[in-house]
Amino acid sequence: MEKEKLLRQLPAVHELVNCCEPLDCPPHLLTDTARDVLSSWRSAILSKGSVPPDIGTLAVEVRELVKKRMMSSLRPVINATGVVLHTNLGRAPLSDAACEAVLKIARGYCNLEIDLDTGNRGERYSHVEEILCRLTGAEAALVVNNNAGAVLLALHSLAQGKEVIVSRGELVEIGGSFRVPEIMAQSGAILREVGTTNRTHPRDYERAVTSETALILKVHPSNFRVVGFTREVERRELVAIGQKYQLPVMEDLGSGVLVDLQQFSLDKEPPVQETLQAGVDLVTISGDKLLGGPQAGIVLGKRELVQVMKENPLLRALRVDKMTLAALEATLKAYLEDNAEKTIPVLRMLSLKAEELYKRASGLKELLCKALPKDCCIVLKEGVSRTGGGALPVTDLPTTLVAISHPGINPSTIAERLRQGNPPVVVRLQDDEVLIDPRTLFPGDAELLIKALERVLR
Ligand SMILES: *Cc1c(COP(=O)(O)O)cnc(C)c1O
Repeated sequence: MEKEKLLRQLPAVHELVNCCEPLDCPPHLLTDTARDVLSSWRSAILSKGSVPPDIGTLAVEVRELVKKRMMSSLRPVINATGVVLHTNLGRAPLSDAACEAVLKIARGYCNLEIDLDTGNRGERYSHVEEILCRLTGAEAALVVNNNAGAVLLALHSLAQGKEVIVSRGELVEIGGSFRVPEIMAQSGAILREVGTTNRTHPRDYERAVTSETALILKVHPSNFRVVGFTREVERRELVAIGQKYQLPVMEDLGSGVLVDLQQFSLDKEPPVQETLQAGVDLVTISGDKLLGGPQAGIVLGKRELVQVMKENPLLRALRVDKMTLAALEATLKAYLEDNAEKTIPVLRMLSLKAEELYKRASGLKELLCKALPKDCCIVLKEGVSRTGGGALPVTDLPTTLVAISHPGINPSTIAERLRQGNPPVVVRLQDDEVLIDPRTLFPGDAELLIKALERVLR
C-alpha cells in the first residue's frame, strides 16, 4: 500500500514533458525519454520502495538523458595515455591530407569502379595498386577491410584444404580476436605446426613438407618477444626452402612499415620493401598501424598469387569502401612525396624527442598548477610511451609524464570523470596515479585537458 502511494506521486508523462519544455529536440524523443525515466522510477519504487523526487528534479533527469541521446555515440576523444596506436581509441589518427581526401570523395560520386578513359567498368582495387607497388617494389597489390581479412583471404585462396607450415613460436594471438590457428581454421587451411615455442630450425620446415603442403607462413610475433635460448628461421632461409620445394612463402608482417624506424631510435622493424626483396612471395600488413592510415589490410607480392586472391569470391565480403581508398591513397602519397614523417600523425608522435616531450610536460604542469586547486599534487615523472597496436612491444619510448593526484578524490574516480566529460579524456592509471603523456596530445588538446581537470578536481 505504501508503494502505491509512492507510485501516485509520480507525474503523468505529459506533465513531466510540459515541465521539461522548452527543449531543442524532436517531440517524440522528449516523450519517450520522459516515459523511460518514469518507468525506471516505477521499477525502483516497486523493487526497493525508493522515494521519487519532485517533478522539477525528474525534469532535470529527463533533460540530461535527452542531451545524452542527442549526442553522437562515436565521438572524438583526447588520448592522454601516450599509447600511439591505441586500438580502443581508433588506432591511427589520419593525416590532414587523408581527412580532406575522405571528405571530398565521401560527399559525392567518384570513379570508384569506372575507367574514365574507356567508360568501361573499372576495379576499385586499382586506385591504390600502382602507388603500393611503386612504394614497395611489389609486382601486385590488393587492399581489403583489415589485415585479419587479408590473411584469411590469402589462406583461403592459396591453401584451402591443404597444409600451411608455421613455426610454433609464431602461433600468436593479437588483440584478443586475431589468433593465427583460428584464422587458419576459418580459411579451411590445415595448420602444420613445426618446431618448439622457443626454437625452430630450417630442418623442421623441410621435414614437414609433403605433397599436401600449399604454403609456408611466417608471422610477425607483434606484441611479444621470445628471448633467451631461441632460434628463429630467418626470412632468407625460408625463401630458400620455398624455392627448393616450389612452395610460396607468405609473411604476415602485421604492422608493416615503409620507412626506416631507426631514424627515430626505434627498434629495427623490417620495412616491407626489404621483406619483398628478400624473396618473400606475399606480404600482408595493416593500414592503420605504423603505416598511419585508415583501417585496411594490404596484400603485396607476386602477381599470380595476388591474382588468385582477386578472383576469390570471398573478396566481395572483405572489400574496402571509397572512403578507405581515399584515405589510404592520400596517406601513401605522403610516403611518395617524402613528407610522411612530417604529415602522418603516427610517425610524428613516434619521432618526438625526449627533450621536446619534457618541454611540453613542463609547460602543461605549469598551466595545471595555476588552474587547479592548491591541494592538488602535480609532478613530473620520467616514463615511457608505447607504440601500441601490437607493434614494437618492447620498444621503450622515453617521455615525461605529468602525474596528478588529489587528497580527496581517488585516481580511478578522476579517470572515470574525465572519461565521462565532453570531450572525453582518457588518461593512464598507473601505481595509483593519474598520468598524462604529452606524446599523444594534439595541438589544442592541452587546453581542453586543463579545463576538464579543473571541472573534475574543483
Ligand atoms: C595486428 C596484426 C594482425 C591483425 O591486423 P588487423 O588490421 O587488426 O586486422 C594480424 N597479424 C599481425 C602479425 C598483426 O600484428
